[in-house]
Amino acid sequence: MNYNSLTSVGAAAKSRYKAAMTFTFDNTYERLPDRLYARVVPSKVSRPRVVKVNRRLAETLGLDAGALASAEGTAVLSGNTVPSGAASIALAYAGHQFGHFVPQLGDGRAILLGELVGIDGKRRDVQLKGAGRTPFSRGGDGRAALGPVLREYVLSEAMFALGVPTTRALAAVVTGDRVERDEVLPGAIFTRVAASHLRVGTFEYFAARGDRAALAALTTYALERHYPDASGTGNDALALLERVIAAHAGLVAQWLGVGFIHGVMNTDNTSISGETLDYGPCAFLDEYDHRKTFSSIDVRGRYAFGNQPGIAQWNLAKLAEALLPLIDADEEEAVRIASDRISRFPGLFEAAYGTVMRAKLGFSEAHEQDVGLVAELLESMQENRVDFTLLFRGLCELAQGTASDASVAALFADPTALYGWAGRWRDRLALEKLAPVERATAMRRVNPAFIPRNHRLEELITAAVTREDFGPFETLVKALERPYEAQPEVAHLAEPPKLEERVSATFCGT
Ligand code: AMP
Ligand code: MG
Repeated sequence: MNYNSLTSVGAAAKSRYKAAMTFTFDNTYERLPDRLYARVVPSKVSRPRVVKVNRRLAETLGLDAGALASAEGTAVLSGNTVPSGAASIALAYAGHQFGHFVPQLGDGRAILLGELVGIDGKRRDVQLKGAGRTPFSRGGDGRAALGPVLREYVLSEAMFALGVPTTRALAAVVTGDRVERDEVLPGAIFTRVAASHLRVGTFEYFAARGDRAALAALTTYALERHYPDASGTGNDALALLERVIAAHAGLVAQWLGVGFIHGVMNTDNTSISGETLDYGPCAFLDEYDHRKTFSSIDVRGRYAFGNQPGIAQWNLAKLAEALLPLIDADEEEAVRIASDRISRFPGLFEAAYGTVMRAKLGFSEAHEQDVGLVAELLESMQENRVDFTLLFRGLCELAQGTASDASVAALFADPTALYGWAGRWRDRLALEKLAPVERATAMRRVNPAFIPRNHRLEELITAAVTREDFGPFETLVKALERPYEAQPEVAHLAEPPKLEERVSATFCGT
């Protein structure tokens, strides 16, 4: 199999895709050994209705957005029709959940339709989430409720627009059936698009079974699919490990830059491609608090905001462990090499985080005092319960002049807390010759005005679930397409929650 030609057919395929509701699948994963997945057929649903089709993404994939929203497309997006050429498989994977190894998880309610090479030449998985039971469902019903589907839609598309690597949302449909959770809820299916659905847990699954052949096939596959320029060193496992480490160092730095808390950083939710994967009880910070968790099941704060770099390193160590037999035939040597690579994570993370935070503060050069300035600001924000997004957006004004000093200072419980720091920050800005307007413009490109705030997500879910009103969902999705632009007409969506609007916990809702 030649994966190096994976990206060559995109442009030529464009016209073919456009014709009707045809999918030109090219399913490379299905061609791997068949113990990597199970063949499944989506379960039928009663009365599927499209809630949303992501037109732009559909076009990128070479699909006709109109056809996707038609009855024929709805049948595919709801699992009622399996299009010709689809793989229709559930992937096997294991994973460490909250630190404990579970040897078999797998796609319990997700079905991979297949892979499409888009008009941009990129290969992507198209997956139905909530499409019914699979051999990996364990006790679950294989279904998804509307609330979590809308959450994932909004959050993943927001992350994309913010510039953070992420899986995407192609569509959401309601099924017309009910699902039983704590309460009875409308069922829905989410169509997810991802660079791939390979996870750290995929490797752990085969490592735990001592299936070296599957592990080797998977390793070469992952390297050639995601990091083709790193193949050919003669040690695919080490090359893959190094690249996944680098990708996650950058990813978590970006999460911290936008105030994102993943919420369930289990190894089965840690992608090999370096994309944000599996939006469950995730959330964006309102007030800055490095200890913050929202997830109702994270009682000890394992996945708290500030723990995320350390947890990413832990997860990558699990990938390294799974790859050990392929890294070197001599176990001791393999451990030595793998440990060395894992120990490089903090340095890679710090470098990536430094780049993110310097840009947020308007610095284009690196100076000695920068790390201290970031640390002092965050410490003060923590003490003064400052809204993370408003503060950094406010600093864009402060970079231009002093007119907004008082209003930004008012974000601090003790407004005087800002001034000492702001003076040192302005001294530091003065070391770089850049016109204040230009600097402010550059800062507005990295400090969003809009994030998917928790209370707005709750509000749109309530409207959709209780009143079938998708207006708030549409409005938020639209605003979040341009998170770095002012958009005065939806200024309310930039506001933090009032006291009574605060959301203290989020749920997986699976
Ligand atoms: P998650 O918490 O969504 O990352 O899922 C963890 C594991 O539970 C995965 O193996 C999922 O496929 C499985 N799972 C979650 N929800 C369901 C469900 N409703 N039915 C079957 N399996 C599920
Ligand atoms: Mg998961």
